[in-house]
Parts: sequence; C-alpha cells; structure tokens
Amino acid sequence: TGQFFVGGNWKCNGTKESITTLISDLNSAKLESDVDVVVAPPFIYIDQVKSSLTDRIEISAQNSWVSKGGAFTGEISVEQLKDIGCKWVILGHSERRHVIGEDDQFIGKKAAYALSQGVGVIACIGELLEEREAGKTFDVCYQQLKAYADAVPSWDNIVIAYEPVWAIGTGVVATPAQAQEVHVAVRDWLKNNVSAEVASKTRIIYGGSVNGGNCAELAKQEDIDGFLVGGASLKGPEFATIVNSVT
Ligand code: 13P
Repeated sequence: TGQFFVGGNWKCNGTKESITTLISDLNSAKLESDVDVVVAPPFIYIDQVKSSLTDRIEISAQNSWVSKGGAFTGEISVEQLKDIGCKWVILGHSERRHVIGEDDQFIGKKAAYALSQGVGVIACIGELLEEREAGKTFDVCYQQLKAYADAVPSWDNIVIAYEPVWAIGTGVVATPAQAQEVHVAVRDWLKNNVSAEVASKTRIIYGGSVNGGNCAELAKQEDIDGFLVGGASLKGPEFATIVNSVT
C-alpha cells in the first residue's frame, strides 16, 4: 500500500560529533529510490541535520506543541518546525504516552494542528505487554486510532506507526505474523470507521526492535508498509539496510 516509508527516530540521542558521522554515513549510503526516507533528530540538532544531510532524506520532529506558538515555556511550535524545514512530526509515541503522560485527546489535537499547518504526522499507536497478555491489543489500538480519527479532518498526510510497547528498545521484535495481524486489524478499522479509500491508501509501518537482520522478513508482510526505527537508525549503514528491505 503506497510507497514504502522508513523513519529513523533518533530519540534523545546524539552529540554534534556523533550526528556529523551519522549524516556523512547517510549521505554516502545507497538508498532504493522507491522508498520515502525520513529521520527525526532531537530538536536542537535539526538545523545541523537539515543543512548537511542530502535532500533525499526528509526531516521529522519527534514532537510538537499542540497549537500556535507563544507563551509555552520549553515547547517547540509546528510553525517553527516548518521554518527550519521539517516535513513531518512523530506524535503519540509510546515514550510520550507512557513516560511523559500524554493522553489520546492531547495527541489527537496535536495531530490536527500539525496537519492544519501542512506538516505530515507519523501517528504512533501500540499496546503495553500487559494489554497484549490480557487480549486487549486490538481494543487499545482501536481506541488510539479513534482519538486520531475524531480529531483530524483528513488522513492524506498521516502515516500510522504500529509500535507494540513491549517491542520498543527491548530486542524483542514482533514476529512477522504478530505485526501483520495488527496491521490488518488497523486497516480494517480504517475501512469500517473512516473509509475504504483511506484504509487502502494509508501506510501502516511497524516499529519496535527493527534491525538489519529482521527487517527483510517483516517487509515481506502484505500490510507492513515500512518501519519506524529507533536504535538501529543511529547506525547509518544498518539504517540503509532497513530502507533497502523494500520488496
Ligand atoms: P527501537 O527500534 O529502538 O526498538 O525503537 C523503536 C521506536 O520506538 C521507534 O519510534
């Protein structure tokens, strides 16, 4: 469905020096042409990345403020992200939901605001281990999807990232069958609650312990349209391998 999409979420990692190395590795990597490639550096390094990274790779932020900028100490507005060349923002990441405490409604509002300013949204969803074990995986994902659907006027500029929380940063990757099962459920939900067109056009990417060794099997799954990569996106050659796992 749609063009393969691979995002690198650098999270709160990197220094000017390590990012200089990563940029030069990415600039020299051979990337398949039919893949959308995006990296999300920490805010303070976006300008450095934008000025030295190849235009082949687009830039995403890892978060944005929920409305127009102003007196919001410590926040970064969507207008500012646009100003420095960000095309995307990651919203609803599990670390913001579960570590920082953002809720569905707040995330939905952020998504709507970013879209209103022309910035694409990588909309994350995903269940905790205890929710999976209690058989609630689909319900949790549906509730998170509903919060986006209730808030946004259009899905044209949204990529959904399914990131089971138990797979993030743990080395425990979802099996291709586990990921595929949820991606199908997400697509069905979109079909039943948004439209058949949105269901067939929206890219659903997988995140959680994706690496150069497991990406190929995952990429073969019919409903996996790409990846959101954390740890392995900090290594240029391995990130390139993941980009090039497009089938
Ligand atoms: P890891 O690839 O490090 O598990 O992180 C996944 C993730 O959270 C990407 O947003």
